Amino acid sequence: MSASATRFWSDDLAGLTPYVPGEQPKIEGLIKLNTNENPFPPSPRAIEAIRAAADERLRLYPDPTSQALRECLGRHHGVSVDQVFVGNGSDEVLAFLFRALFQRGRPIVFPDITYSFYPVYCRLYGIEAQMVPLDEDLAVDVDAMCRIDPASVGGVILPNPNAPTGRALELEQVERLAAHFSGCAVVLDEAYVDFGADSAVALVGRYPNLLITQTLSKSRSLAGLRIGFAIGQSGLIEALTRVKDSFNSYPIDRLAEAGAIAAYEDEAYFEQTCRAIVRMREEVAAGLSERGFEVLPSAANFLLARHPEHGGADLAAGLRRHKVIVRHFDRPRIGDHLRITVGSDSDNAALLTALDAIFSGD
Ligand SMILES: *Cc1c(COP(=O)(O)O)cnc(C)c1O
Repeated sequence: MSASATRFWSDDLAGLTPYVPGEQPKIEGLIKLNTNENPFPPSPRAIEAIRAAADERLRLYPDPTSQALRECLGRHHGVSVDQVFVGNGSDEVLAFLFRALFQRGRPIVFPDITYSFYPVYCRLYGIEAQMVPLDEDLAVDVDAMCRIDPASVGGVILPNPNAPTGRALELEQVERLAAHFSGCAVVLDEAYVDFGADSAVALVGRYPNLLITQTLSKSRSLAGLRIGFAIGQSGLIEALTRVKDSFNSYPIDRLAEAGAIAAYEDEAYFEQTCRAIVRMREEVAAGLSERGFEVLPSAANFLLARHPEHGGADLAAGLRRHKVIVRHFDRPRIGDHLRITVGSDSDNAALLTALDAIFSGD
């Protein structure tokens, strides 16, 4: 970048620190276990529906309210259509809710080790972050969060299961948070909930401050379609809609809406693939433990693991030489860990074979 390029930037742009997604390298034969994509293809019915929607109707704008998809999600989750918001990936839903629901001038509470997009949105909107350290087992410290004076806080957000640890909270703990912070929005990012945690959607009727976000990117194998959604009482949904309609009237395109609905209609495929991932997760965890790794218990489609004798950066580089990429975070407390997505059976076998080669000096 030439020095003069920044001349035209807005005043505070240089102060932003954008999120860095896991890389998407175009290397032949690479085994990609770095971005928590699902190893299974999307439901064949979703692909069929997308093909069927790809016709002359693309001339027309999509439904700005995504009514059919919201009805489908409402039916599936047992809530009414005015309790559902949909966005272009849950990252967009998160971006909107930071703007719509978090009070400026007071900090937003989230764990110190969590989804690294949250601090990015804080900077984007000029909101302060109050990070609560995970406990010594790298679990979200609900007790410590509940010791914060709720009146001092502008909002709370955390993933359940947490990322990149994979550890899940009990619903009773979620309820404690929603009740303690009853004066502000409490957001639960359930991107990985289908792999083994309990969803807090059942609690939204009782907690008007509770908003749940989910995505079709992980458990429905549709990261490429970009659909995420939020469920909460209609007042929260209306706030999100106000931001959306001040930003982009049509975040969900025609193909995405058709594919997402069809994916939800194929419940059997969804359940079968989720079960397979849980099985493979436990197999990979066992394989890693046999090789000396300490593996955190995970309720997600990834594992966070460290080896007492090998640094995280070295291991990630070694795996890359063997054409396996995993995610390494150069951050305090997890710098020696690797976050490993659960892949297909053959991906997972390749991971373990590559580790054996590395440990035998190759
Ligand atoms: C993957 C992920 C998301 C974003 O998913 P989208 O693809 O934007 O729907 C949100 N939160 C967490 C914790 C994630 O890991």
